[in-house]
Amino acid sequence: MSESMKLTCPVCGQMNRVPEARLAQGPKCGSCGEALVDGRVAELDAGAHDKATRGDELPLLVDYWAPWCGPCRMMAPEFAKAAQALKGRARLMKLNTEDFPAISQRAGIRGIPALILYRRGREVARLAGARPAAEIVAFVQGHMGPKV
Ligand SMILES: [Zn+2]
Repeated sequence: MSESMKLTCPVCGQMNRVPEARLAQGPKCGSCGEALVDGRVAELDAGAHDKATRGDELPLLVDYWAPWCGPCRMMAPEFAKAAQALKGRARLMKLNTEDFPAISQRAGIRGIPALILYRRGREVARLAGARPAAEIVAFVQGHMGPKV
């Protein structure tokens, strides 16, 4: 039960090791002090995106969105609700594809919003189009695997 998990800080990109038992206790980044697991949706930049999607050991769901995309903006509060509901079991973050077009191109994203679930450095599943919070939660839970 004292296993630790690698979690990338969405703000500074620092890779942190967090004991699983402490996930529920509001662990903070050892480098910048940002909360690592607080149920909020963090905004990623390119560097933090690549580190988190390749290294994080807690399931990570990334919302690829853009400010000009109406459905993306409509989904934002639903995505935030899902992040709260999944707190401690998965982290939800977003990446602005207008600021980082190379990343969405590399991920093969054709339409937004697009949700990609990563686990232990691999893409596990993706979901296209705006979804209500309950569907987002069910999507993540359906791909958690036998043990999280
Ligand atoms: Zn940090």
